[in-house]
Amino acid sequence: MLTIGCHLSISKGYYKAGLQAVEINANSFQFFTRNPRGGKAKALNFEDIDKIKQLVKEYNFGVLFAHAPYTMNLSSDKEDIRQFAKNVLKDDLVRISHLPESYYIFHPGSHLKQGPTKGIEFIVDALNDVITSDNNITILLEGMSGKGTEIGRSFEELKQIIDGVKYNKNLGVCIDTCHMYSSGYDIVNDLDGVLNKIDSIIGLDRVKAVHLNDSKTEFASFKDRHELIGEGTIGLETITNIINHPKLRHLPFNLETPTDEEGHKKEIELLKSVYKD
Ligand code: FE
Ligand code: FE
Ligand code: ZN
Repeated sequence: MLTIGCHLSISKGYYKAGLQAVEINANSFQFFTRNPRGGKAKALNFEDIDKIKQLVKEYNFGVLFAHAPYTMNLSSDKEDIRQFAKNVLKDDLVRISHLPESYYIFHPGSHLKQGPTKGIEFIVDALNDVITSDNNITILLEGMSGKGTEIGRSFEELKQIIDGVKYNKNLGVCIDTCHMYSSGYDIVNDLDGVLNKIDSIIGLDRVKAVHLNDSKTEFASFKDRHELIGEGTIGLETITNIINHPKLRHLPFNLETPTDEEGHKKEIELLKSVYKD
């Protein structure tokens, strides 16, 4: 069975978001753990959480995607911003432990002018501070397009972070189809080659989730412009190959395409129609 969802707002609670997911025939969804611009998270509403837990069970949802705010930069050149990011991460992991099973996905960071080596060092230090031996939440580094000074644009950088973390048993990767293509991995002409590369550098067992997006920009553009499924430079044929690939088809997929609920509903319908059960 295809596990598919899209990004939804939880401003009216997790249960409302779950109902919306059901409405568009999704069996997962992604949400921001707090305002994407950062800041304080709302207090958890345990009545709401009980209801979403029931809904997830009743409709047989896959795991949910809890996405960190974009402002969380563990590799900032400013000590107070790094500290803030670490506090967000710590707090988010506690919050997620109360929710239905959710993978925590975050953008590794931006090194600004410090260079990737320094940036990776900061990320590793932060993760070692926060991830304790008893952590049982799946934490995923997102593979990035490589715009600006983003860290995580290559499988090698992601692997370096994972290797630096002491308790890395539950530390993995979320691949983003738009980001991979933009950062120079040719999933259109050589999907098997790209998957073999992930496998030899990181290990496919570390890949736990997929952001399914088409791209507005050409191959290796190092830009981050998501497009509707089938309407971008990646195209429906490749997206179809990805969701059906024997090495990927069991993973949870979530859309981050620029459309509304009606649009996501159509995309989900399309994806289900090309998924080979
Ligand atoms: Fe992301
Ligand atoms: Fe993404
Ligand atoms: Zn993106």
